[in-house]
Amino acid sequence: MTVRVRFAPSPTGLLHVGNLRTALFNWLFARHHGGRFIVRVEDTDRARLVPGAVEYMLEALRWLELDWDEGPEVGGPHAPYVQSERLDLYQGLARRLVDEGAAYECYCTPERLEALRREQAARKEPPGYDRRCRTPEGREQARRENPGGRPVVRFAIPLEGTTTVHDLIRGDVTFENARLDDFVMLKSDGFPTYHLAATADDHVMEISHVLRGEDWLASTPRHLLLYRALGWEPPRFAHLPMILGKDRAKLSKRHGATEALAYRDQGYLPEALFNFLGLLGWSLDDKTEIISREEFVRHFDVDRIGRNPAIFDMEKLTWMNGVYIRQMPPHRLAAVLAEWLERDLPPEVPRPLDRAYVERMVPLIQERIKLLSEAAELTAFFFTPGVPAYDAALLLGKRFQDRPAEALRALETAVARLRGVDAWDAAALEAVLRPLAEELGLKAGDLFGVVRVAVTGRTVAPPLFETMEVLGRERCLERMEAALGRLAALAR
Ligand code: GLU
Repeated sequence: MTVRVRFAPSPTGLLHVGNLRTALFNWLFARHHGGRFIVRVEDTDRARLVPGAVEYMLEALRWLELDWDEGPEVGGPHAPYVQSERLDLYQGLARRLVDEGAAYECYCTPERLEALRREQAARKEPPGYDRRCRTPEGREQARRENPGGRPVVRFAIPLEGTTTVHDLIRGDVTFENARLDDFVMLKSDGFPTYHLAATADDHVMEISHVLRGEDWLASTPRHLLLYRALGWEPPRFAHLPMILGKDRAKLSKRHGATEALAYRDQGYLPEALFNFLGLLGWSLDDKTEIISREEFVRHFDVDRIGRNPAIFDMEKLTWMNGVYIRQMPPHRLAAVLAEWLERDLPPEVPRPLDRAYVERMVPLIQERIKLLSEAAELTAFFFTPGVPAYDAALLLGKRFQDRPAEALRALETAVARLRGVDAWDAAALEAVLRPLAEELGLKAGDLFGVVRVAVTGRTVAPPLFETMEVLGRERCLERMEAALGRLAALAR
């Protein structure tokens, strides 16, 4: 059997990161089995459409490099892959089921249904349609009460018996038919509901496996009854575990961003999010955390998808992002960071940035950042022309808090010695400054602290000597001279 799976989002909002996990699992399942991954837009709920949602969703798939074999933009043998362009199919099936007696037209007005709901609530009964239009007499009466009204089509659920979902993850889950509602398949505007459209398309598009969130499990018996009524073989089903926050509540804004691309915009790498989402419900061996894309594809299957809810732990994602940043070849990280820097560095930094210079700087921060978005602030001093702005008191630190004159003398001596250094590299700089601290009777850290603030404007910066090497002789001496002036003013 050829594996054909689909990702079928409704464009009713910006793609939720939980839905991106569903997309990823489907993609992995297809790639592992050498099958096809299909994207289908389920846009039949016209009232809830959000403009731009389809583009956003495709952008998120592209960012995670989840390529699709059939669907929007790429087409395929079952095009169109947008449900609003396939109405004839659904309308024909609804008509067929009405003709065969497995479905019926319902003329009940929204007002009647609302009154029914209220009565049921008052009697503490579950809400549901009372099947008035299922009999010809009831239907006639309803039609008379609703002159000129267009009917919906409801599916006639068998009144007895049970329906069992053979779930690949959960095993058999059995539902009492009597508890299922005669759901609407086709609305009065001629648009199908989700149940009809998804079932019809899964069949027509030859979907072999439906992998979707556990919240859809309750819908599956309805779909199975539809397959049976239509005489179709259903696909296999696998309902993926829910995603919860660390507090075990349903994942929501409170836990962090829920829109998929917010992670890109906050400085996460797609490979880190891929790895993280891939472990939300699936595991390789219950312990391995860092797994490459290739390994995921090699090992991914439904037998290691768990039943328990998966916990979305933002700190773990951030940790993982740091791991991926450190693993990147420096030239690739430089290429990625260059874009962030071009955008986020202060406006006085001339563009375009010198790519070779960025490449020399990047190894100094590669170990230090967990998010790409941290780079611009941490490294702005490499790029700002002239002397960076900082509070002069930073030059004194704790050691020289009340002794600016002493700091001034130390830095003066350092500058004098550094002027004699020709080969401006980290080793040479260290060979001058470390013994100098001792000579001046200072702790190395205290002397380096003054130099660090002078050349970077910061108390926390990448390793000092490497930083000075990359900054270069001119820039360092210019900045240290400026610091001498500021120290002299403090000492006066
Ligand atoms: N359109 C549904 C959604 O928005 C698809 C559910 C399914 O995969 O059947 O998630």
